Amino acid sequence: MKEIILVKFGEMALKGLNKKTFEDMLKKNIKRRIKSLGKFELTSAQSTIYITPLDDDIDLAEAVERVGKIFGIAALCRACVCEKEFGDIAEKAVEYSGDVLSRAKTFKVNAKRSDKAFAMKSPEICAELGGIILEKFPHLSVDVKNPDVTVTVEVRDTNAYVHAENIKGAGGLPVGSSGKAMLLLSGGIDSPVAGWMMAKRGIHISAIHYVSPPYTSDRAQLKVEQLCEKLTDYCGGIAFFCVPFTEIQEAIKDNCPEEFFTIIMRRLMMEIAQKIAEKDDCLALITGESVGQVASQTMAAMACTDAVCHMPVFRPCVGMDKTEIIETARKIDTFDISIEPYEDCCTVFTPKHPKVRPRLEDIEKAQNAFDFAPLVQKAVEGTTMKLFDFNK
Ligand code: ATP
Ligand code: MG
Repeated sequence: MKEIILVKFGEMALKGLNKKTFEDMLKKNIKRRIKSLGKFELTSAQSTIYITPLDDDIDLAEAVERVGKIFGIAALCRACVCEKEFGDIAEKAVEYSGDVLSRAKTFKVNAKRSDKAFAMKSPEICAELGGIILEKFPHLSVDVKNPDVTVTVEVRDTNAYVHAENIKGAGGLPVGSSGKAMLLLSGGIDSPVAGWMMAKRGIHISAIHYVSPPYTSDRAQLKVEQLCEKLTDYCGGIAFFCVPFTEIQEAIKDNCPEEFFTIIMRRLMMEIAQKIAEKDDCLALITGESVGQVASQTMAAMACTDAVCHMPVFRPCVGMDKTEIIETARKIDTFDISIEPYEDCCTVFTPKHPKVRPRLEDIEKAQNAFDFAPLVQKAVEGTTMKLFDFNK
């Protein structure tokens, strides 16, 4: 039996004239993601992409697993390819769905006929095939409202297809269709989730990470690189920028009032991120901040950081509780990496009593007492870049 993967577009099916661009981008993303599993042919028609394996020994389960993480897909399923002839459809349906049907108590047949020239109408296909299945599996009964198994028959242009349950796709828009943005990626729980959420909106992610050796260890950076690698499963390739931040943090410590350390540090992080983002063609910054989570994440504090930004700053976790963020982190499998205990530069020199409601003019005055520009420039120049891509 010849098996393929059917992929149904998500939201982008609504995009009118841009649909073709979105579709091409999705196809490209799928192709890249499954390339290492063997040769495939990808074709599309009627808001569906057909992924046909061309080699015999391809691991389709793994292909489904990978494609299931790609944004822009509403649903996907493995399907059996049939001739456009009822006899073949019925024979293959019984064989292909045999396993699940023998374990089920109730079933129904669902038929879709996009080729209106096909001799049988959908209700006829349902009735006929339903009858055949009942004959072969006498323990089953039909339940059209809440069946254990739905056997779907789709009669399309060149072939008919039989499949069981659809798997829910990752939703969203194809990565790359909304441009590129720079994710401030710490080793924490929140920022990988923030990156994943924006990638879901079609944004291609680059990542920037600040290190302060010897206060932060190589192991801390490695952890962030592991997060980056994990994110590639969803986001595709990620350019990872690593910024040497020690001198700036020491200058803050030596020259600014302690209660403003964190905010000034965050303003300088944003300033550097923007400079790198511009060079990397990013149109926005992304952080993992959530209102009220810590002192530097009050609205007043965010206003002070945003004051140095001319790019939009996306904070997709902003209205989420920590428990919700953790739930997502578990789902996307970044949680276990994030909870490894390594120092982040944010926790170096944290003030005992940070200002919860800082006033912009006080912060600006404190920051302007020292000329950070040369250190910012030096940090930008010292920034290194590494490309992450699918690890298999
Ligand atoms: P996270 O779980 O993402 O680390 P957090 O709750 O620990 O977030 P903070 O440490 O205040 O919060 O950091 C807020 C945001 O600032 C992070 O979500 C991240 O986007 C950015 N950030 C913090 N530290 C770094 C770093 N070392 N490199 C890059 N970005 C950072
Ligand atoms: Mg953190």
